[in-house]
Amino acid sequence: MDEETIFAQATAPGKAGVAVIRISGPLADSALSALAGPLPEPRRMVLRRVANPSNGETLDHALVVRFAAEASFTGEPTAELHLHGSAAVVRSVLDALAKMEGLRPAEPGEFTRRALLNGRMDLAQVEGLSDLLAAETEAQRLQAMRVMEGGLSRLVDHWRERLIRAAALIEAGIDFADEDLPAGLLDGAADAMETVLAEVKAELSGAQAAERIREGFRVAILGRPNSGKSTLLNALAKRDAAIVSEHAGTTRDVIEVHLDLWGLPVTFLDTAGLRETDDPVERIGIERSRKAAENADVRLWLQEIDDGAEPEIALSDADLFVISKADRGSAPDGLAVSALTGKGVDLLLETLFNRLRATAQTSSHVIRVRQRVALERGAEALERCLSLARSGIGEPEILAEELRYALRQLEALIGRVDVEDLLDDVFASFCIGK
Ligand code: GDP
Repeated sequence: MDEETIFAQATAPGKAGVAVIRISGPLADSALSALAGPLPEPRRMVLRRVANPSNGETLDHALVVRFAAEASFTGEPTAELHLHGSAAVVRSVLDALAKMEGLRPAEPGEFTRRALLNGRMDLAQVEGLSDLLAAETEAQRLQAMRVMEGGLSRLVDHWRERLIRAAALIEAGIDFADEDLPAGLLDGAADAMETVLAEVKAELSGAQAAERIREGFRVAILGRPNSGKSTLLNALAKRDAAIVSEHAGTTRDVIEVHLDLWGLPVTFLDTAGLRETDDPVERIGIERSRKAAENADVRLWLQEIDDGAEPEIALSDADLFVISKADRGSAPDGLAVSALTGKGVDLLLETLFNRLRATAQTSSHVIRVRQRVALERGAEALERCLSLARSGIGEPEILAEELRYALRQLEALIGRVDVEDLLDDVFASFCIGK
C-alpha cells in the first residue's frame, strides 16, 4: 500500500448541486474524522457538519461515507465528502485537507493508478474506464462498459488456461527425451492452440470497428467547388461550422463536425473542392482533402443536380453518390438532398447510419492500439507454435518456449506483465480525482 494519503475533488470543477472530494490512503479515516467527527460504519452515508479542524468553524454540512481497503475503488481506506457544489465550499475543504500532516493533492489518474497497483482492476479495465469517462455517445458507452466490466480480461484468462494446458502437454513430451514425441500429446496441444488462435483472430478482425467507435467514424464530404458541401455540412451540424460562400474555392482547409448519429460517433469532414488550380493556398487545401478522403470510412461525393460530368474520384461500394441542390429540379433515382429545404437530409443520414452500424456491429473488445498490437504479436507467436506442432519436427523445448512467449504477449493485453512502462501512457488521459 502507498504511504501517502491523497485527496482531490472527484467531480468536475464549477458550480453544481453536489461536489465530491475523495481521500485515499492510510490516513483517510483520520482525515475524515478530523473534519466530520466520529467515523460512520463503512459504506454508510451519514449527514455531518464539516468543520475546520484548526478553529472549529463550519465549512459545510455534507454527506460523508468511508470504505474499508478491501471494498474500496483504490484498494486502500477511502473516504468521500459529498459537499454543496460551490467553488468556495470545495476550496475551503481542500485547504483544510492540505494542512493535514501526511496528506497531499492527488495527481491526475492517481486513484485509478492505485486501484491498478492494488489489483482492483487490470490494465484493460483501466483503459475501459478511461474510455467510459470520455464516452459521448451510446455506442462508446456500451463498448467502454464491456471492457471495464472485464470482457477482455475474461477472454485472456480463458485463452491463458488453455494455452497453459497445451504447454503442459508439450512439457510432458519433453520427458520422453530422446524418443519422438507421442503424437497424441502434440495433437492435443496443437488443437488447443488452433482454437485459441481462431478466437484471437476473431477479436482482431473486430479491432478496427472498435477503434472507430472509440474515435468516431469519418465521413468525408467531397465534390467540385460550389457543389454545396459547406452548406450541407451546416445543415447536418445545424450550426454554422463552415464558411458558405458564393465564390468557388473558399473552403481551403478541412473542417470537422462531430455528430452523435443515433448513438454512433461520426465526424464529417468538409473538404476543399477538388479541382485544378494555380493558387498555392487552395492547392494545399485540395491536398488535405485528398488525404482526408483516403482515410475516411465513407466518402460522400456531392454533385450538383445540373452537373453532368463524372465524379473526380473513383467511387467504391463503400462510398455514396449524392445529388445536391435538389430543390432546383427533379433529381434522378438515388440519394438527392437540398441543404436549403432540408429535403433528403434525413434519408441521407439514415443511409449513412445503416452502413456504419453494420460496421459497428462487428466490433470486438480491442479498443486500443496498444491492445491490438499485443494481440497481433500473440497471434503471430501462436501461428509459429502451431506450425511447429503440426509439422512435428521441432524440438519440444523450443515449442514450449514459443508457447510461453505467445502467452506473455496475450497477458500483456491485460497488463499482467511489464505494466510499469505502460502506466504513464495509459494515465496520460486521466484527470485529477479519477
Ligand atoms: P462548396 O463549395 O461545395 O462548399 O459549396 P457551398 O456550400 O459553399 O455552396 C455553394 C453555393 O451553392 C452557395 O451559394 C449556396 O448557397 C448554394 N447552395 C448550397 N446548397 C444548396 C441547395 O441545397 N440548394 C440551392 N438552391 N443552393 C444551394
